[in-house]
Amino acid sequence: MDNGFIVAIDGPAAAGKGTVSKAVAAHFGFAHLDTGLLYRAVGAKVLAGSEPHKAARSLAPEDLESDSLRTPDVAQAASKVAVIAEVRAALLDFQRSFAARSGGAVLDGRDIGTVICPNADVKLFVTASAEVRAQRRFSELSERGIADSYETVLADVKARDARDMERVEAPLKPAADATIIDTSRLSIDEAVSAAVAAIAMAGGVKA
Ligand code: C5P
Repeated sequence: MDNGFIVAIDGPAAAGKGTVSKAVAAHFGFAHLDTGLLYRAVGAKVLAGSEPHKAARSLAPEDLESDSLRTPDVAQAASKVAVIAEVRAALLDFQRSFAARSGGAVLDGRDIGTVICPNADVKLFVTASAEVRAQRRFSELSERGIADSYETVLADVKARDARDMERVEAPLKPAADATIIDTSRLSIDEAVSAAVAAIAMAGGVKA
């Protein structure tokens, strides 16, 4: 099942898709691309004064490595540049080439199953209630010493959801053939097991 096998994992912010994606990539030995980092890197460049489309066209691999991409300000900037058609178009080829690599690939984002890889072998939509997602993000930020209140984090999550779901270009939504995994009441292990099982079933291999 490994030659060119593509797993598309979409979902809203802080639903657990990053954790699930990393775990299933490790489980099956597939490469993993967190496509949110592409938009975060463009958002960070825009916060530093670049034009969005120029930032997207000139993105380099080292731009994806900075720890500063994981801040709330960069997340909001990312979701603002993500509504721009030229920005999305500039990032398309990179994502499709990554997906086409031999050995299998897991891509996680918002539009992988709908736009980037509509022919993916498996499509998962990992979601959870806005309150559960805000609580998780709040705990994660607190651990990293970033002092936002739960209410601020919830408002940020809802603002990003609205922008991601209501945009014209590649809005966030489950592909018609996606398996939905609601992680609101699942532990990390349970969410990963559900994803591994769905992928194994589609690939016809043992989990
Ligand atoms: O996944 P992450 O929270 O890092 O993504 C940051 C932002 O980038 C999202 O809120 C969304 O607006 C945008 N994004 C996107 N399409 C993707 C991945 C991320 O529009 N495939």
